Amino acid sequence: MYKLSGVTKNYRKGRGMVAALRGVDLVIEDGEWLAVQGPTGHGKSTLLQILGGLDRPSSGIVEFDGRDLAQLREAEMTKVRALSIGFVFQTFNLVPTLSALENVEAALVPLRVGAAARRQRATMALEAVGLGDRLRHVPGELSGGQQQRVAIARALVKEPKVLLADEPTGNLDEDTRDEIIALLETMWRERGLTMVLVTHDSSIARRAQRIGVMKNGRLGFRQPRPGQAARAQAVGTGTGPAGSAGAETAPSPAPALNPAGGSSPDAQAGPPWVSDHSALQPPDLPDPQAADLEDSDLEDSDLEDSGLPGLEHSGLSDFEDDDSEPADTITFD
Ligand code: ADP
Ligand code: MG
Repeated sequence: MYKLSGVTKNYRKGRGMVAALRGVDLVIEDGEWLAVQGPTGHGKSTLLQILGGLDRPSSGIVEFDGRDLAQLREAEMTKVRALSIGFVFQTFNLVPTLSALENVEAALVPLRVGAAARRQRATMALEAVGLGDRLRHVPGELSGGQQQRVAIARALVKEPKVLLADEPTGNLDEDTRDEIIALLETMWRERGLTMVLVTHDSSIARRAQRIGVMKNGRLGFRQPRPGQAARAQAVGTGTGPAGSAGAETAPSPAPALNPAGGSSPDAQAGPPWVSDHSALQPPDLPDPQAADLEDSDLEDSDLEDSGLPGLEHSGLSDFEDDDSEPADTITFD
C-alpha cells in the first residue's frame, strides 16, 4: 500500500528549521495494521499527515498504490484523500453546528454522491458504529466516545482503503478507549483496511500487527514477541477478508534485520474491498490476552534495528516519556 523512501520533513520555526522527519523508510502492506508510538514532538503526526497526503515531504518518496504522493498535483492529492484515505483525530474534529448525520455526509460531498444516496450511506455508517439512534444529535449532545464514533463513521463512509488514526483515544477515559479500539479493530478486520494508529498507549499498540517507534524523526520497529505473532496469526485465521492479509503479513517471532520496515517480501496483495455495511459486527470486547501483557514486557532488546545510522543507541526505551525533549531544532542559515 505504502512505500516510503528517505522521507524528510522540515518545518520553519522562527528563523530556524525543525527537522520533524529525518529519513523515514517504511513499507506498509495492504491490509496491515501498524501502530506508531514515540514521545511527543518526535514526528508521529507529521508522518501520519504525509501518509494521508495532508502534507508533502521536504524530500523523499511517498509511494501510495504505486504513485508518489510527493509528486501529485494538489487536485490529484485532494482526490486521493477524498477517495482512499480516512482520518480520525484525537480531538474528533467534528463540525459543532452539524448533526452526526450531516458530519458524516460531509465526507461524501467531494465524491459527488447525490443527496439521497449520501443520506443513506451516512445513516448506514452511523448504524455500523452503533449510533443509529443518534443521527440528529449535534456533537455537543454526544459523549466523547460517541463523537469519536461519528468521526470513525465519517472516515469510513467513503469506503477508503486506508484509515489513519492520530491518538484517537487520547481524550477518552479507559473504558471508552477500549470500546473505540475494539471498534477500530473490527472495522480493520471486516473491511480489509490498511490501518496506521498513532498511540502513546502500549496496551493499544500491542494489538497491532507491528509496532513502529518514532524517535527524533526516525522510525524504528519493535520486535514482536511470540505471543504477539500468535495473536496476529489468530486474527489471520478469522472470518474477515482482512484476516487473510493479516496471516500473510504476520510478523515472524524472530524477524531478520529489516531496514525498510516491511513485512514478508512475498506478502500477497491485499484483501478484496468489502463495502457491505450490513456485514459489520458490533464492537468486540477488549482482548484479554493483550490486557495481560505488562508494559515492562517491552524491553529495549525488543527493538529492531531500523538500519538507520544513529538510531541504534538513541535510547528508544524512553519512548513513552512524554516529557522528553522534542526533536532538535536545527538552524539553517
Ligand atoms: P508528534 O506527533 O510525535 O508529537 P509532530 O509530528 O507533531 O510530533 O511534530 C514533530 C516536530 O515538528 C515538533 O518539533 C513540532 O513542533 C514540529 N512541527 C510539527 N508541525 C509543525 C508545523 N506545522 N510547523 C512548525 N513545526 C511543526
Ligand atoms: Mg502528534
